[in-house]
Amino acid sequence: MEKIILNKKIIILSLILFFSNSIFASNYFIKSEIKNGELKLYFSSDIEGVRYFTIPSDNGTTKFVYDIYGATLPKGKGISQNTYKTIESFRIAQNSSERVRVVIKSSQKSLNRHAYRDNILVIPLRDNKDASISGRTIANISKKHKHIVVIDAGHGGKDNGATCCRGIIEKRIVLSIAKKVRVKLENMGYRVYMTRSGDRFVKLPKRTEFANRKMADVFVSIHANAAPSLRRAKLFRGIEVYYLSPAKSERAKRAAEKENSVMFENKDYYTKNAYLSLLNREKIIESHKLGLDVRRYIVKNLKKRYKIHDSGVKTANFWVLVGAQMPSVLVEVGYITNPIEGKNLLTDRYQSLLAKGIAKGIDRYIKNNY
Ligand SMILES: [Zn+2]
Repeated sequence: MEKIILNKKIIILSLILFFSNSIFASNYFIKSEIKNGELKLYFSSDIEGVRYFTIPSDNGTTKFVYDIYGATLPKGKGISQNTYKTIESFRIAQNSSERVRVVIKSSQKSLNRHAYRDNILVIPLRDNKDASISGRTIANISKKHKHIVVIDAGHGGKDNGATCCRGIIEKRIVLSIAKKVRVKLENMGYRVYMTRSGDRFVKLPKRTEFANRKMADVFVSIHANAAPSLRRAKLFRGIEVYYLSPAKSERAKRAAEKENSVMFENKDYYTKNAYLSLLNREKIIESHKLGLDVRRYIVKNLKKRYKIHDSGVKTANFWVLVGAQMPSVLVEVGYITNPIEGKNLLTDRYQSLLAKGIAKGIDRYIKNNY
């Protein structure tokens, strides 16, 4: 009797495992093949997406990295290591639960773009070789695909953001800059969406939900800062770029508190734990890289005509960045309370240079990492 019950349990358990496996069916890696100077990887179903980037190394070799999203390496397939005339090695491994990573080490400086069709990914291993299937060159999907950027103009509607003397209101300045960023990115060939394009109140969690829904490659939130008191207005200045990570400096904490204030209306939306679980190491690293590029180009552009104060890239807990599934940063374009910065921020020329810097920084990040 005891034994029969146990067997039944095993059968039920097996059934549950069987069905749960098929519900969350993965796209399994089947085999790899090197032929005619290209590496072909076969999967059990259509490839969802491939992210590509390179890592240079000291000894002159380059690592070409391809992350295949939604893919799984079946157990037992293990890590395969191989070499070929033009490359030192290639390696396939499960990089995280939702992607397989291929790393090719080669002394070549560049490889032509990979391409994928249906369930086959083709990576050219020889310089100046196009990806092909059955002798026919296949379209470079990644080139045709427009990258998507979501620009978030902070505050809006009933939420003015920071306010100051001379009637300067943060929500107006940041919307004006955001619109300029949009035009510049569109001219560069990006698909751009804005979380708000008018004076409208948008709850903080809705902003990243929107970016996730649009499957954005990057999310950039634009804000302007203010000194804690007008008495100390002159002391506070500078452009700051933040990415999400537990806040360290006092100034970062204060900036986060200020931008988060609207969030306290629905504090229960995210618990501290939910917030922490959303932070993964890789997103932090990517957001940091995005932040560095954005900051670099803002400074580069403004420096030509203005004496500016660069406060660098920092980490902070901004609610608006929580929940973004893509690299994301928050730009504080300057202090509206500062006599010089505040005046500059109202001019079209300064806003345009700022916007150009933000757009170029985003472009640089995407070109280097996608
Ligand atoms: Zn703000």
